[in-house]
Amino acid sequence: MKTVIIVGAGPCGLLMAHYLLQRDSKYCVELYEKRPDPRLNPVSTARSYSISLGFRGRAALREVGLESLAIERGTIALGQEIHNSRGVVQSISRKQPRLLIERNVLTNLLLETLTKRYDASRLKIHFKHECIAVDLEAKSAAFQSASGYQPCQAYDLLIGADGVQSKVRNILQHKTGLEVKLRKSPVDIKVLTLRCYDNHRELTLNRDSFHLYSLGWAGALLCGLKSDGTYNALVSFTRGYNSLANISSGSDVLTFFRKYMGDFSQLISPEEADAFAQKPFFQTTTVTCSHYHFGDSVLLVGDAAHAVSPIIGQGCSAALEDGLLFNQLLDKYDDDLTQVFPKYTQRRRPDMIALEQISDSMVPLNIYLGYLMLLKHVFDRTLHRWFPKFWASSLVDMIAETTIPYRHILHSHSRWFKTINALNQLILRRGKRLSNPKSMLESA
Ligand SMILES: Cc1cc2nc3c(=O)[nH]c(=O)nc-3n(C[C@H](O)[C@H](O)[C@H](O)COP(=O)(O)OP(=O)(O)OC[C@H]3O[C@@H](n4cnc5c(N)ncnc54)[C@H](O)[C@@H]3O)c2cc1C
Repeated sequence: MKTVIIVGAGPCGLLMAHYLLQRDSKYCVELYEKRPDPRLNPVSTARSYSISLGFRGRAALREVGLESLAIERGTIALGQEIHNSRGVVQSISRKQPRLLIERNVLTNLLLETLTKRYDASRLKIHFKHECIAVDLEAKSAAFQSASGYQPCQAYDLLIGADGVQSKVRNILQHKTGLEVKLRKSPVDIKVLTLRCYDNHRELTLNRDSFHLYSLGWAGALLCGLKSDGTYNALVSFTRGYNSLANISSGSDVLTFFRKYMGDFSQLISPEEADAFAQKPFFQTTTVTCSHYHFGDSVLLVGDAAHAVSPIIGQGCSAALEDGLLFNQLLDKYDDDLTQVFPKYTQRRRPDMIALEQISDSMVPLNIYLGYLMLLKHVFDRTLHRWFPKFWASSLVDMIAETTIPYRHILHSHSRWFKTINALNQLILRRGKRLSNPKSMLESA
């Protein structure tokens, strides 16, 4: 039996454990997570966020028999409603419903089912253990536990599923020459919780839909229902155009949202507005690696290998799909890791490079590009319905509602992506000048 260390008990690490453990008794798994056990320390709703899982993510969960449980614990969005500041709503249907599930609900589900299905002879989970070092030659990893103890663990296979700031990736980068490119995504993001007014029907958002509010020229609020009946919203602004960057009081926050959401701004409680004003905006990091494996003993998966902007809503689906592909390759090559690892990089990397390019161009950086994308979506969908053999399906449908490899999607809409990317670059350059007026004066 091979000993596998998985670093990181996020969605990807936990699903990897499921896939490995369901392969008879070929593997035993030691899972190390730096945070405490989420089942004992529930994440506060203020810190949790909803993940929209498309067809890819759901297919990966289905393979380990967890799709229906995830649907039970999440909510389903049948379509999207786009609201403008005059209260006009445009509805877009989806061919396939989207699953909305909070990250902590998803990880708890994966965790509970793991511990129910496998006993301690094949699965050990160590919370509050942070990976601090890996000896690639000796095949052992060192951890820092909360109690100060520093255990060392030997492995046959080490899986780095430790997210954007991956320690395993850093070690591969410094010791093996792995090339890593980290980029800040060009949007400022904050998470907001909208309450639900059950007794005010006029203030009830359609529960079966995602809702998109435009917040001026280069901002948006995207929200969906959570399992507790509140709405989880991502507020985003293109870098350089952040109208909320200098707002520091809850009442200013409410005034701002009233302008764009009208009466629906009442869904933001005064306490939530205060908390929102105090929290800083964050920028996510995009990760690109030259390969995802080292020999036949270390593999990088999920955000550790290929994080993308959350605005495109694909990071988690892609992370879960990693597990599905890995499992298919183990089947195909009879668990021979010397063949599986290089094939994994060879198959996965072109798709993840394509996803990065798609995510750069799929996020409209101003409202006009947003409308242009919407127009293209409706146009492509209609023409594809009439001429399915000659006209490619809409991008949004292909990305979220199929398992077509991302590289094929990029190829089928390559001219569109190039154009939007060029326009996005112009918008960003202008934003840079606006947020740094001194450089404008100097260049003048
Ligand atoms: C606000 C927001 C909204 C998002 N919305 C969507 C969406 O709608 N759809 C979608 O598909 N994706 C979305 N994403 C992206 C999605 O959350 C990630 O792609 C996904 O969580 C990646 O899973 P992962 O397991 O690879 O990494 P993570 O979820 O980051 O998990 C990594 C785990 O490793 C642990 N860890 C880190 N370092 C160490 C260490 N040294 N030792 C031990 N443990 C360690 C961390 O504590 C963590 O638990 C969103 C992201 C954000 C931030």
